[in-house]
Order: sequence, then C-alpha cells, then structure tokens
Amino acid sequence: MKIAEYTIDLERAAKIINKKRYRRVALQFPEGLKNYLPSFVAFLQKHTDASIIIAADPCFGACDFAHQELQNVGVDFVIQLGHEPIPSLQKSAIPSLFLTAQATVDVLPVVQKALPLLQGKKIGIVATTQHVHYISAVEQLLKDHSFEPMSGRGDKRIAVNGQILGCNFSAATSILKNVDSFLFIGSGTFHPLGLVLAVKKPVIAVDPYTKEVKTKELEEFKDMVLRQRYGAIARSKDAQVFGILVGLKKGQQRIELADKLQQMLTENHKQSYLIALDTFSPTHVQSFTTIDCFVSTACPRIAIDEYLQYKTPIITPIELEIVLGIKTWDDYSFDQILSE
Ligand code: SF4
Repeated sequence: MKIAEYTIDLERAAKIINKKRYRRVALQFPEGLKNYLPSFVAFLQKHTDASIIIAADPCFGACDFAHQELQNVGVDFVIQLGHEPIPSLQKSAIPSLFLTAQATVDVLPVVQKALPLLQGKKIGIVATTQHVHYISAVEQLLKDHSFEPMSGRGDKRIAVNGQILGCNFSAATSILKNVDSFLFIGSGTFHPLGLVLAVKKPVIAVDPYTKEVKTKELEEFKDMVLRQRYGAIARSKDAQVFGILVGLKKGQQRIELADKLQQMLTENHKQSYLIALDTFSPTHVQSFTTIDCFVSTACPRIAIDEYLQYKTPIITPIELEIVLGIKTWDDYSFDQILSE
C-alpha cells in the first residue's frame, strides 16, 4: 500500500490475517504515522474479517512491544508499523508482524549535492529505517564518482545492513577502521548526533525531505549537546541520592546494567533506588523530590532529548562513571544499547 510518502506492505499483513484466521488485530504505530490511521484501518477492514483495535500508547521504536494485556481483550495478532524488528529480542507473547514504512522520497538528488563535501575516498553509508532500502542505489552513485562506499552489518539488534537506531550505531562502528568518513541518510538531528559521537570521524548528514546537507550545523549541534551533557555531569557531582531508571519496554530493559550501577554507587558511598517505569517523562519522575540525580538505563534518548525539561539532572550510565571519577570527560561516548 502506498500512502503519502511511504510504502507499507499491508497486503502481506492482510494475507497473514486471512491465512491464520486472526479475529482481533491490534495496530501499533509511531506518532508520525497516526494521521494515516483511517486508511490503514479501512484497508484491513476491506481485505480481512478481523476486528481492528488501535494500540494507542506511544510507540517509539521496535523496542516497544504491544502490551501483553491486549490478549485480555481478545487480540490475537499485533501489527507494528514503521519499524524493522530488533532480531535479538524474544518474540512477543502475541504473534506479531513488523512492517516498515519505506520512504518513497528519492534520496539520490540530495546525496548528489553532498558528493563534493564527502571526506576521503572510503565512505561508510548508514541510514534510518525508512531509507535503508536506498543504500545500494547510493553505493552505486558513489562508485560512479570514484568513491569506495561500504555499509556495515550491525549487531543482533539490527535487522538490515547499514541501518542505525537512536540507541545502536553498530552498523557504523563495525566498519569504522575501513572508512574515512560517513554519509548519513535520514531526517532529524538525534541519529546523526549519536553517529558523530559514536564514530568520532567526519559525518555528512543528508535529509531526503528537506534536501539539506548538514555538516557545520551538525558540529554546532554536537557542541551544544556536549555542553549540556557537561553541565548535567557537573550538576550531579554533589548528588548523594540517585534514582536508577529501569525501562520496562522489552527492548530497553537493562536490569544487569542497573544492578552494576547500583553496586558502583554503593561502593562510592552513595544511596540509590532502582525505579522501573514503562514510559518516562519529566512529569512521571518529578514527584521523587528526594532524588538528586537520575541515571537512565532505558532508551538513551531520554537523557538527551528532554534534558531541559527535567528539573533534576538526568544522566546516562557512562556519564555516571564520569561523575564518580571512574572515567574522565575524555572518555565520553554516547550511550548505546548493544546486543550481547
Ligand atoms: S531504545 Fe530508543 S532509540 Fe532504541 S529503538 Fe527504542 S526508542 Fe529507538
């Protein structure tokens, strides 16, 4: 099915629903696809006999499986739209299907624009999920211009060559030694920021929607975020009571890391609490007024994206090690959730 600027294989979903005779199907999708909801539901109602129910809790990534409790209302199949699955995660209790929303916007014009800015000959290519299907065409374009492009195989959290997540840049780090610089394809600033901090090599970011090529802006954004992170670390230096946030979303659970951090804090004579939550937001944690600093082991975006909205500093596990003097600012790196 083609809808606006995406191709989504709802035909495949309909075939599976009919073959397995699923009766009640939950649709889970990220905010960006919510506007197209009526078309998705209409399509499935036309092509299947299943009753469709919207799983409306926010869904930020493939780490976020639909609630098992949906079984209690008769859901026997879940379709998560907009994400590739995370292969290393165990399957959800309810049979499910991940359907990506492949962007139809042609990425080649903006890549062409970026060619003069690429640094070196050997270029690593990475993309967000919506654009990974364009990587082979981009590689060909670069070869035609005498570059040596390559894309990396990520770890077991990554489904497709060259794909990066906001929490996982292993498709880039796996080829780090073999490339001079990286070309990032996607929109927004968080993914290229994480990439810059993970690879510490030049990154040119191209946005297929706005047709922008970002280099200087990316560096400026990186500097601003690093200043914020430095500030968060400085504000946490005198903290005595820490709240270690443990995400309950299936692909964000890092309880072993949380235990390790708690032990580290105890050894440094600091008090700490493990705090489990499904969805974090500044309003969810602001009532913990006795906590001086939160350490998030859940999605790495939590500490970075909404930093200014938290009254209490919120830091990543690596930043905690800097606070405690176990690591130095020179060791700073971006928090990632990697498969074991
Ligand atoms: S943990 Fe965060 S960055 Fe990673 S897939 Fe989930 S929402 Fe995306």
